[in-house]
Amino acid sequence: MSTSTSSTAGAVLVLNSGSSSIKFQLIHPETGEAVAHGLIERIGEPEGRIIFHHTTGTEERVGEIPDHRAGLRAVLDMLETLGRPLQEAGVAAVGHRVVHGGTVFHEPTLVDDDVVKTVAELSILAPLHNPANAIGMEVAREELPDIPHVAVFDTAFFYSLPPAAATYALERTIAREHDIRRYGFHGTSHEFVSQRAAAFAGRDQADLNQVVLHLGNGASASAIEGGRPIDTSMGLTPLEGLVMGTRTGDIDPGVVMHLNRVAGMKVDAIDDLLNRRSGLRGLSGVNDFRALLSLIEEGDEDAKIAYDVYVHRLRKYIGAYVFELGGVDQIVFTAGVGENNVDVRRDALAGLERLGIVVDPERNAAPGKGERRISADDSDVEVLVIPTNEELAIARAAAKFA
Ligand code: AMP
Repeated sequence: MSTSTSSTAGAVLVLNSGSSSIKFQLIHPETGEAVAHGLIERIGEPEGRIIFHHTTGTEERVGEIPDHRAGLRAVLDMLETLGRPLQEAGVAAVGHRVVHGGTVFHEPTLVDDDVVKTVAELSILAPLHNPANAIGMEVAREELPDIPHVAVFDTAFFYSLPPAAATYALERTIAREHDIRRYGFHGTSHEFVSQRAAAFAGRDQADLNQVVLHLGNGASASAIEGGRPIDTSMGLTPLEGLVMGTRTGDIDPGVVMHLNRVAGMKVDAIDDLLNRRSGLRGLSGVNDFRALLSLIEEGDEDAKIAYDVYVHRLRKYIGAYVFELGGVDQIVFTAGVGENNVDVRRDALAGLERLGIVVDPERNAAPGKGERRISADDSDVEVLVIPTNEELAIARAAAKFA
């Protein structure tokens, strides 16, 4: 992450509050320059940690951070060491990443008491994330009362999914009573990356069919037609779809009943198993893709199977989405694995020449961090690597309210 020497005037503070962490970035919405960014972790534990990257270096502090208020106060104190207090320094807005907007929030929303309350109520749909998002907004509004606060929802982009893609074939009274539908996640990233991909190619997104593959520790795919999503791989929760670092992705729900009946596992234990002990970690012992590749190099069989399962699922989704779209113009890789892993990009699209999808091996393997094309010149379909930048997308959405 590069940081600049520019002032904080006009910058947006982007906050991503987790259950025991706060990620923050002070970023200029126009240029994408980060004035400062960092992470507070282990909130509520005896040994909390703050990492703060700014114009002239990096600072790290260790010590108890009792709660989110103390964490945010520490962030603001550190940011003030860069100059004047944020409110006086012309910070334009605070953008809050919120995971679940339910059926209520479909677009970036100015935060007031009701919004905080509703986000907290939606915790039933995202018990790990929404409570922390609500606390983060509450505390930040108290600490920075004179700046607009804007909630940007991870589900919002996918709210307009066509009913055929958004609806589970579940008894409808139950589904309606409990707001059970496919919501999708990583929406800010899919929207940002699909727009950047069109701009990179110098094409109007309205004319494009795109498949976006957000492959990070969490992973999701989307099918986007003329800028509107028509399908995505995550559902009611981020558990559905692709194989991820620690999540199963798609699995027969019969497994849940089976584990309950046969292994006597209760719902919380199964939740933990499917969300945190499965995926690459469950199959190989490691969830980090670099560690997985090292194990494969050492000849570890389980790691090889984990990789094959990961790629198999990915290809299945790509195929489904190309078919749903009736043909594709761009396939776009993003996030930690998608931006950096040559093997996954190669194997996900291997042998598809007859569908007009040809990855150029040299372009794919060329070192690089920026936006780039990795398809061959004679490929009908453009294959691109587009780094995601959710913070910038959130900053831009928030700046519209300044
Ligand atoms: P994210 O959630 O987007 O931060 O992505 C995290 C994942 O990206 C982890 O599995 C990392 O191992 C993987 N990743 C990050 N950098 C690289 C790299 N240079 N090569 C392979 N995988 C990487």
